[in-house]
Amino acid sequence: MENIIERIYADAMKDLASATDSEAIDRLATQYLGRKGSITQFLRNISKLPAAERPQAGKRANEIKRSLEEAFQKAQACSKEASKAVTDRIDVSLPGRMPARGSLHPITQITNRICDIFSQMGFDVVEGPEVESDYYNFEALNIPKNHPARDMQDTFYVSDNVVLRTHTSPTQPRVMEKQQPPVRIIAPGKVYRCDSDLTHTPMFHQVEGLLVDRKVSFSDLKGTLTAFIHRMFDDQTTLRFRPSFFPFTEPSAEVDIRCVICRGKGCRVCSHTGWLEVLGSGMVHPAVFENVGYDTSRYTGFAFGMGVERIAMLKYGIDDIRRYFDNDYRFLSQF
Ligand SMILES: [Zn+2]
Repeated sequence: MENIIERIYADAMKDLASATDSEAIDRLATQYLGRKGSITQFLRNISKLPAAERPQAGKRANEIKRSLEEAFQKAQACSKEASKAVTDRIDVSLPGRMPARGSLHPITQITNRICDIFSQMGFDVVEGPEVESDYYNFEALNIPKNHPARDMQDTFYVSDNVVLRTHTSPTQPRVMEKQQPPVRIIAPGKVYRCDSDLTHTPMFHQVEGLLVDRKVSFSDLKGTLTAFIHRMFDDQTTLRFRPSFFPFTEPSAEVDIRCVICRGKGCRVCSHTGWLEVLGSGMVHPAVFENVGYDTSRYTGFAFGMGVERIAMLKYGIDDIRRYFDNDYRFLSQF
């Protein structure tokens, strides 16, 4: 008699294992545990067994019944969970997940813009090394050792004769050494100085410009930079050339533009002067030409340099230079 109930149990478990959905599990539950199910039938027939076998058979049949009830319940729960997971995965009504779109860093964007404007005026874009020799960074640019102008730039020294370049100007002698005029280049890149506050970072970006040819005059310099500023900001922007000093240009001039924030009325950005300093420039010093072997009786030229962060700050109205290097996604994603 016990063999019968064990066989029913084994069959039920085997059927359950191959049941694939909720309805199949329900059908099996009825087949085994329903009013006319095989377990129920067996329990009903226990009274027909010999008295000695009845307690043992009844006990075992009830154990099997409980165990099957539990197994069916579990299977039912699993199947619901599984079907829910399937519908979740293919819910076509859900909005799609947009991948976050990257963009170029604002400094890269402004550098590209500067290069574009000068390229259209016929300048070639060149690059130079960031770890530079003392010769190209200083001496070739008419800044000999112990020259007071070296104090103007807080230099990172790698060794006695190797520095992290303090400006992009070393590209000037590097290019001129390799070719005779005409030269018309701009050189964007990173430069380094021991300096850090609201308007200075130890690493920043410059764009250098150099034009050498016959009969190049200061008015060519003014015309070129005016055209650039008008393209970079707008053609209502007024420029002012102020006498200045750089060892590698003579005469030298700093270029101010009418404040793009207040239009000259005076504001915090322009320190209430109405003017903003944006560029250093001048006619190439004859000593620099002599260092690279150019004939100073035949050629003249002009050079200029600008800070990319400075231009970007004015273009976007940002007052803390360090924001460009914090890598804060909320800041960067605005460009
Ligand atoms: Zn202003």
